[in-house]
Amino acid sequence: MLIVQKFGGTSVGTIARMKRVAKRCLETQRKGHDVAVVVSAMSGETNRLLALTRQIHEDPNDREVDVVVATGEQVSVGLVALAIRKLGGKAQSFLGHQVKITTDSAHSRARIRSIDAERIHQCFREGKIAVIAGFQGMDEAGNITTLGRGGSDTTGVAIAAALKADVCEIYTDVDGVYTTDPNICPSARKIERISYEEMLELASLGAKVLQIRSVELGMKQGVPIHVRSSFNKNEGTWVVPEEKTMEEVVVAGVSANRDEAKITVRGVPDQPGVAARIFQPLTEASIVVDMIIQNVSEAGHTDLTFTVPKGDVKRAVEFLTTKCGDLCGNGQRISYDDTLAKVSIVGVGMRSHAGVALRMFELLAKEGINIVMISTSEIRISVVIDAKYVELAVRVLHDGFGLDKPPEKRVTVA
Ligand code: ADP
Ligand code: ASP
Ligand code: MG
Repeated sequence: MLIVQKFGGTSVGTIARMKRVAKRCLETQRKGHDVAVVVSAMSGETNRLLALTRQIHEDPNDREVDVVVATGEQVSVGLVALAIRKLGGKAQSFLGHQVKITTDSAHSRARIRSIDAERIHQCFREGKIAVIAGFQGMDEAGNITTLGRGGSDTTGVAIAAALKADVCEIYTDVDGVYTTDPNICPSARKIERISYEEMLELASLGAKVLQIRSVELGMKQGVPIHVRSSFNKNEGTWVVPEEKTMEEVVVAGVSANRDEAKITVRGVPDQPGVAARIFQPLTEASIVVDMIIQNVSEAGHTDLTFTVPKGDVKRAVEFLTTKCGDLCGNGQRISYDDTLAKVSIVGVGMRSHAGVALRMFELLAKEGINIVMISTSEIRISVVIDAKYVELAVRVLHDGFGLDKPPEKRVTVA
């Protein structure tokens, strides 16, 4: 088989752990498989490097930030390759550009365009383990780029797709994908198999165990992803195409995202083109708008409320004030709240079961948690609430939908 093994920051967080990673990769190779290993920076390193850039400049240039933060992974690949050699194995390290991981030029959130698989196959022919730096690539002009936080997951899956690997194993500090973050909710249970769609929703709603783009890519390219612990040999979670039995589970998981802020623009004219004008400056500033709600119009005017990442809220208000002052009374009619969080329930079973939203609202009401905004998709319901209740809300929804019990013992609604 051809196996890609991706090890996250905690898994390579110390020299002792790197030695264990090396042992694990070698064991896999010695079973007769070709092995490509993708590694992250040692835990805490990317944050440390980002902080250094901010000590020099409060709003640092993205291109230079990428040059700095990409070094974390460079250290890891060299050390892991050395550790494999020390154990008597053969290994070669590669930076992103050395296996031609070509990306677009969107620094700090670049997308992979292509990878040269031949260089890695050559490594296999020489009996070596290829140790590849996660998170980084190079654009057409030769600039170093990075793929966004958690981007090594995406490197792992992209390498697996390019090599047509049998599996992409994501080694991390938990035993797999859980029904909710096991570090927040002690009753969370490991999921055995989850569909790409559900995983995509959970990841985009705050479960950082897999980067969203890695799931997107796995789904598109049909790469089976196996999320498992680097500290034991337990079977983890398989992320795979949807299976019939998955529909029987109404809610597969609960996610939370604390990075939510709400902006309201009151009294905007209820006319064609107004929403487009309001969202245009935000798009130009690369501010991602999530939920959008427009009120019923009264006397030709309406209120528009939407959410943006917390870190972007002040910039968003500034842009709106300067670019469409006529629509918001030069900022007078804009208000914002950045003490919010979004809690979501996800499951493909929602397509075929009624009463899920009602049950969610009842569970929250029983705890006196007020819902500020609601949004839904076919397989997800999200609510925005006061950030101080987020952990309570996660636990109440998790146990309320029976996720603390094995799938066959969960009660379904209606
Ligand atoms: P790595 O450094 O290995 O990439 P991350 O810290 O990026 O690891 O992701 C693993 C973490 O994701 C876990 O420690 C856990 O706290 C968090 N997490 C959030 N939601 C979930 C979930 N549903 N299942 C498993 N882990 C989750
Ligand atoms: N080192 C990068 C980060 O901390 C990429 C990764 O670990 O996946 O975000
Ligand atoms: Mg990660």
